[in-house]
Amino acid sequence: MARFCVFCGKHPIGKNREHVIPQWLIRMTGDPKRDAFFGYDFPTMQPRHFDFTSFAFPACGSCNKKMSDLEDLVRGIVDEILNGEPLARWEFNAFLDWLDKVRIGLWLGYNQLGKDGPIKVIPNFYISHRIGAHDRMVAIYKTDQRSQGINFIGADTPAFQLIPSCFALRINQYYFVSLSKEFLVSRGLGFPYPRAWRVVNVDPTVVAVTLGPGSGIVKPTILQKSLPAGNVELYQPKVYNSLPGINQTQVNVQHHYDKPLIRQYSVDYAHEVGPIFIRQDSTSQVCDDSPWSLLFPKVHDFQILSIELGETVYEYQNYLLAQTERDLHGSGIATPATYIAARRYNDTVLELIREGRVSAEPS
Ligand SMILES: [Zn+2]
Repeated sequence: MARFCVFCGKHPIGKNREHVIPQWLIRMTGDPKRDAFFGYDFPTMQPRHFDFTSFAFPACGSCNKKMSDLEDLVRGIVDEILNGEPLARWEFNAFLDWLDKVRIGLWLGYNQLGKDGPIKVIPNFYISHRIGAHDRMVAIYKTDQRSQGINFIGADTPAFQLIPSCFALRINQYYFVSLSKEFLVSRGLGFPYPRAWRVVNVDPTVVAVTLGPGSGIVKPTILQKSLPAGNVELYQPKVYNSLPGINQTQVNVQHHYDKPLIRQYSVDYAHEVGPIFIRQDSTSQVCDDSPWSLLFPKVHDFQILSIELGETVYEYQNYLLAQTERDLHGSGIATPATYIAARRYNDTVLELIREGRVSAEPS
């Protein structure tokens, strides 16, 4: 397989390696040299154990440098979250950018590790293409865990290879469930959303949408499939200048977004970066420039929450696969066999989690 830069997908210029799990985060969560579990090798099914610093992939020098600014910012932001300090809107935005980066980095990393596995996905986008590309959200949970550690849930599944839209990350005492998909939160937040959509190309998938105006009203529930309660949730709908139409031409949709409130609260309206909403205390509010304290409604039992979020992530991945299958079906395209296999894999893991036979926290 040709070497590619995890950020831009081009042949890497300069000898750089990107650590998918940044070194500051490995240090923040324990012994930097510790071994971690990285799923199973195919076809031998031997567990993969190696230290985090080996989970690194080629990158251009210039791409790496650009992203290191984000890493520097987010190191401070994660510190603030862990210390219970208030955060500004731009920090929420940077943290959501970083979760996009980690999610796609893990996707590409596991893609490389599993290249001899049963489900082969050839990446047609890379980290820099997916930062802020779609609606996104993060649900943050506080637990009673006293020991340091980092875990990932759902990054090593075939479903995640097919649709890298949902995973969970634990950093010490906190769990973060990251979701990102086209129009994930738009409708719930009263933003413009598709009245209809049609798959016009399968590989790469191009979906033509017919956008309708938003209601301007934030609904009581934002996600169509909700997450376990007792958290703080941040949502960010994307602002679009244009979207693909039926003939794969770009259709200008700016008029749908050109509203005073969207303009006023967007993090960067001109560059399609939408506003951030925070949901805590059962209410959703749009974030202004003032600092926001995260008000956690409860401290979860770590073991119980780990199992619950394990189930949540596997179920959510299957739900996202089912949604895509439905869109394909609506366009007269049969469900790919890989989708069926990926859903079965998650169903099997879900059964094992429910029977208490596997831990939901892999590393
Ligand atoms: Zn590059």
